[in-house]
Amino acid sequence: MSKTKPTMIASISLDLDDQWSYMKVHGDEGWETFPSYLDIVVPVFLDMFDKLDIKITFFIVGQDAAIEKNKKVLQSIVDRGHEVGNHSFHHESWLKTYSKEKIEAEIEQAEESILQATGKRTNMFRGPGFSWSNDLLEVLQKRNYIFDASLLPTYISPLMRMYYFNKSKLTKEEKESRKELFGSFKEGFYPLKPFNWKFRNSKGLLEIPVTTMPFFKLPFHQSYLLYISGVSMGLMKMYLRFAIFMCKLTKTPPSYLLHPLDLISGDLVPQLSFFPGMNIKSEKKMKVFEIAITMLKKHFELLPMEQFAKKLSVNRKVIETKAH
Ligand SMILES: [Zn+2]
Repeated sequence: MSKTKPTMIASISLDLDDQWSYMKVHGDEGWETFPSYLDIVVPVFLDMFDKLDIKITFFIVGQDAAIEKNKKVLQSIVDRGHEVGNHSFHHESWLKTYSKEKIEAEIEQAEESILQATGKRTNMFRGPGFSWSNDLLEVLQKRNYIFDASLLPTYISPLMRMYYFNKSKLTKEEKESRKELFGSFKEGFYPLKPFNWKFRNSKGLLEIPVTTMPFFKLPFHQSYLLYISGVSMGLMKMYLRFAIFMCKLTKTPPSYLLHPLDLISGDLVPQLSFFPGMNIKSEKKMKVFEIAITMLKKHFELLPMEQFAKKLSVNRKVIETKAH
């Protein structure tokens, strides 16, 4: 049974946000002891990826890698053939407001703890809450990262922030310090296709944006599909089919993003019931997940991000870094 292999490539990655990081953003007490669900979440994902026969990139939060009891489960990610990336140390979505020194310390500390936990030194980065700045890009470039993957080109960032604040218990001061959460309307004007950042007097840095729907710039990562599937499974399939069609039409190789809560629900982690979609049963989430990944696999060769970056065409658009 020979089937033609898809000619276009797509990358697939998971931001391994832990229970405490959701609690922290939400302003819930108790996050300081770093309650974790990694021992529940990671094995479920690994089994699912085996079943679907794909390898992905896990962006790991340094703080989790620094905790002894998490090390075994983080090691299993590498043992089962997946890539690991740096998702910052403290997972603070206002990373872009940090000084350059603080950013450098953050990146290095995460790198070291991920190395300790998994035996791999990573050189791939995605910022928490799609947070990035010029200083961050310069630090990554200096440390020879192969790419940054923090950009989410969408016009709806301010809406996402409003939704989050509305649902949160944050004080006025906390909201003020987090007003950059999810970025601004301007994010929507950046390209969807991978491109090179250009620095003064030095080589560039590859950016692999999280792909949103070409032209419309509406997100289509797994969490959104899950949300739409709550309205109707048929609508979800139609939305994804249209997103795939638009990517092919515009020759955009998608970077597809996953989150732990795409497979895990309130039935397994009740503390997170405030989060959108947590009333959906885990079993249903898995079904939606399988449908979406199977659809993507039909059209794209799904790759973890380092492999994806190596296969990308070198003829890329160059953008000057600009304070933001
Ligand atoms: Zn995250």
